[in-house]
Amino acid sequence: MLNLILFGPPGSGKGTQSQLVIEKYGLIHISTGELLRNEISIGTPLGQEAEQFIQKGQLVPDEVVIGMLSTVLEKHPRSKGYIFDGFPRTAAQSEALDKLLSLRKTAITKVLSLEVPEDELVRRLLERGKTSGRVDDANEEIIRARIVEYHNKTVPVADHYARVGKFKKVKGDGTIEETFELLCNEIDSLVAVEA
Ligand code: ADP
Repeated sequence: MLNLILFGPPGSGKGTQSQLVIEKYGLIHISTGELLRNEISIGTPLGQEAEQFIQKGQLVPDEVVIGMLSTVLEKHPRSKGYIFDGFPRTAAQSEALDKLLSLRKTAITKVLSLEVPEDELVRRLLERGKTSGRVDDANEEIIRARIVEYHNKTVPVADHYARVGKFKKVKGDGTIEETFELLCNEIDSLVAVEA
């Protein structure tokens, strides 16, 4: 299996690039942000809890997200592989993911990290907020809060995978096509090793 984590701060292009990657490589896309927004829109108790955090730009508690992710993995037991987008976002989530995958006799192949300067992130998110209807893209204060959460809680996830040689930075501030090409170069080299 090819199990990728698409890593990077809010606005780095994980969602956009994930779509392109799944089309080309036939992986299953798991975006915890999308799953949470879906729970909110159908009004489940999980969604109602998550919304309190998301609208402030804070991370949703680990137990909520990990439980949700485990349920989703059970729905897709036979896959060529997964691309995780927006997960894991804390050290506890990365430990839980490693365990869930090892129970399935698999593991993370590589973490690909989209590198984008902070000013560009804020610009992109404010732009997206004009049309996305996402409450967490609505103003700069919430966007900055998300970036602070990223630095405080999510960056340790990078260290976790870097220690085992599974972390790779990819330049993410070019065009969508340029970034996709850089990602494909990385993924193709992983596929070549697997084959
Ligand atoms: P972005 O990467 O642009 O912030 P996402 O759609 O991935 O967008 O996430 C939106 C929000 O959903 C996050 O700010 C956070 O509140 C919540 N969220 C998504 N994934 C997680 C996660 N793995 N752990 C905790 N909270 C999460």
